[in-house]
This record gives sequence, C-alpha cells and structure tokens, in this order.
Amino acid sequence: MLVVKKFGGTSVANKERIYNVANRCIEEYKAGNDVVVVLSAMGKYTDELIDMAKDINDHPPKREMDMLFTIGEQMSVALMSMAMNKLGVPSVSLNAFQVAMHTTSVYGNARIKRIDSERIRNELEQRKIVIVTGFQGVNKYDDYTTLGRGGSDTTAVALAAALHADKCEIYTDVDGVYTADPRVVPTARKLKVITYDEMLELATLGAGVLHNRSVELAKKYNVQLVVRSSLNTHEGTIIKEDTKMEKMLVSGVAADPDAARVAVIGLKDEPGVAFKLFNALAKKNINVDMILQSVGRHGTKDISFTCSDEDADLAKDVIEELMEFESIDVDKKVAKVSIVGAGMQSNAGVAAKMFEALFDENINIRMISTSEIRVTVLINEKNTERAVNAIHDKFDLGEDR
Ligand code: ADP
Ligand code: ASP
Ligand code: MG
Repeated sequence: MLVVKKFGGTSVANKERIYNVANRCIEEYKAGNDVVVVLSAMGKYTDELIDMAKDINDHPPKREMDMLFTIGEQMSVALMSMAMNKLGVPSVSLNAFQVAMHTTSVYGNARIKRIDSERIRNELEQRKIVIVTGFQGVNKYDDYTTLGRGGSDTTAVALAAALHADKCEIYTDVDGVYTADPRVVPTARKLKVITYDEMLELATLGAGVLHNRSVELAKKYNVQLVVRSSLNTHEGTIIKEDTKMEKMLVSGVAADPDAARVAVIGLKDEPGVAFKLFNALAKKNINVDMILQSVGRHGTKDISFTCSDEDADLAKDVIEELMEFESIDVDKKVAKVSIVGAGMQSNAGVAAKMFEALFDENINIRMISTSEIRVTVLINEKNTERAVNAIHDKFDLGEDR
C-alpha cells in the first residue's frame, strides 16, 4: 500500500513533535507500506518570514516572497529526515525542484500542473520514506512558486493523485472537520464523513482546516481524504464522494473575516456597465464574490460586491479610473458567515432559520448570497463569533449538552 501523510505546522513545531511525526510515519513504514510524507513549515515560521520580509520592504516582490517562503518547508523536511535517520530508518527529503513539482507561473498563488513521480518512485523502491516539501512548486522560468497560504494540503493531494496512493491522510492540530471551527464554537461536533462538495464550500468560505484547492483536486482525481490529529489516534473525518449517506441539512458553519465590501453608488443605468466594471477587475486578477445590484432609479443604479481585504483598494482604484459614478465606499470591517449542507437544496426555510438566528442576536445582514448547498451573509466583522455561535445553536449542530 502507498500512503501519503501530510503534517501541518503545529504538528512539526518543535523537536518533540518532529520525533512524534517521525515515529508515526515509521510505524506505517514498518507495516510494510510505502510512505510519502508532506510537511509544512514549523509552527508559525511562514508568518515570521512574512514579518521579516515586510520589515525590509512593505511591498516585497512576489517572486522574492516565494523564494523566501520555500526555506520554511525545506527546513522541516531536512530535520524530519535527520530524525528518521537517528531512529534508524532510511529516508530522503526532497524539495519541489528535486521532485519536479511543475506549477503555473503566478507567484504566491500557483496551481500544480504536473508532478514527475519518477524520483519519488525510485526512492520508494529503495525502501526509503520520502519526505516532500509542501506548499512550493517550480514554474516554467525555473523559479520557485507557492500555492497560497495553507497550500501544503494541496501538495499532499496532488502527490496522492500522481502516485495513485491508496490513502491520503491530512494530520493537523484538531481531531477532524467539525461543524464549526472548534476554537470559535466550543460545542462544535466532529463530523464522521463529509462530501467533497460540502467540504469544498466550507474550505472556500473560511474553514481553514483544509486548503480549498486540495478538496477540488481530491474530488477531481477521486482521492479519498482523511483529516485527523497528529497528537492522538482518534478516528478523523473522511471526505469522499456523495454516497447513500443521509444528507445533512446543515453540515457546518464557516466564517471568513478576510472580506471587504465595495459599494459603487450612482452608476449609469444602461447596458454594459456591470460588464465593464467586472471585466476590469478580472483583468487585475481581483476575485469578486458576492454581487448585489440595486433597482435602477432616475437613470442610475448601485452595484456592491465583496472581494478580499487585500484587493479592496486596488478594486477602488480600478473603478475610479474607468467608470462614471457618484461615490464609492470601501468597508474592510466586514466578514462572511456561511452555512453549508447538501440537504438544504430540498428543504425550504433553511435560509430563514439562519436569518432568524442573526435577528435574535440583533446582528444586521449587509448582503446575502446563496447556492444550492450554502447560504452566505455579510455582517459587521466584530459580530462574527457571536453570529457563528448563534447559527450553530439554532441548527442544533453541537454536541449533546
Ligand atoms: P495545519 O497547520 O495542520 O495545516 P491549520 O491551522 O491550517 O493546520 O488548520 C487547522 C485549524 O483549522 C484548526 O486549528 C481550527 O482552528 C481551524 N478550523 C477552522 N474551521 C474548522 C472546522 N470546521 N473544523 C476543524 N478545524 C477548523
Ligand atoms: N507553510 C505554509 C503556510 O503557512 C503552507 C501550509 O502550512 O500549508 O501557509
Ligand atoms: Mg493548513
């Protein structure tokens, strides 16, 4: 059996944890399996690298950021291999160049295109544990790229797909995927299973437990994922294709504070305005999420949308340069809160119940958007925790108390 095991930053944060991970991997290896390990940078090292960079230059070039980032993962894989060596088990650490992890060229947000599996297979054939850097890749210019924050999960799933692994396990600092972030909602309950689609929505809407691209890839290549803790042996959460399991009305609540709302007031009410506006934003690679257009009046209309905090000022500049309007307002102190569940498509009243939970807490809704399996609202950022807890309670998602 070939197993891919990924360990996040907390799981390799110090010497003791590194040995803990080494031992878990060795156990799998001694059971006769081929083991590929994917690691993140130790603890909060990636954040420390960002601080170091910003101290030198508050707008560091993205290429150089990726060059810097790669040392974090390179450090953990080398140390892990040293630990395994000390424990008497043959292992080898490989970075993105050595594996040949080909990505698109966008620094800071690259996508994996192709992985050469030959080197890894050769090392496995020699009965070594292969330890690969997460998060990083190489582009067509032979430069390092990174996959976006939290991207090591995606490295693991991509490797599992490329190597046709029998198992892909994501080890982290919580016991699995919960009905809400267990650090925000103390009563959150661990899910036994969740579908790719639900997990993809949750991850995209702010549940940081998995990188959303990893779920997208897992679905595409049918890689069954398990999320579990590196610190105990509890059963984790299985993420797989929809089966006959009962569809949960609501399987989880997610929050994303990294949202900003841009409101453009008094645009001309004529054809092509929305096209011109959003086309200009797309050309600048600004991802727009929720969109709201008001009913036209006196020949004008308003368009509001959300994007990431980071892109909001650029979005404003682009619109000011291109469009005619009365005023524009950027609000970064907003957050998205969402409920996700495959069962809601056949149940009326789910959205109303969510709104009622917010009404009970006297929390105002600024924008709303829905899909077949989710409802998202935009609220004032300071109310996020209260909103998530209230919604979680309203749908009775928690442990029995
Ligand atoms: P790693 O370094 O292992 O990749 P992350 O910090 O990226 O770990 O992801 C794990 C964290 O995700 C948890 O500590 C938890 O606070 C957070 N989280 C957010 N939403 C959820 C959820 N629905 N279920 C479990 N964890 C969640
Ligand atoms: N070290 C990277 C980060 O902190 C990648 C990861 O942890 O998955 O974002
Ligand atoms: Mg992570």
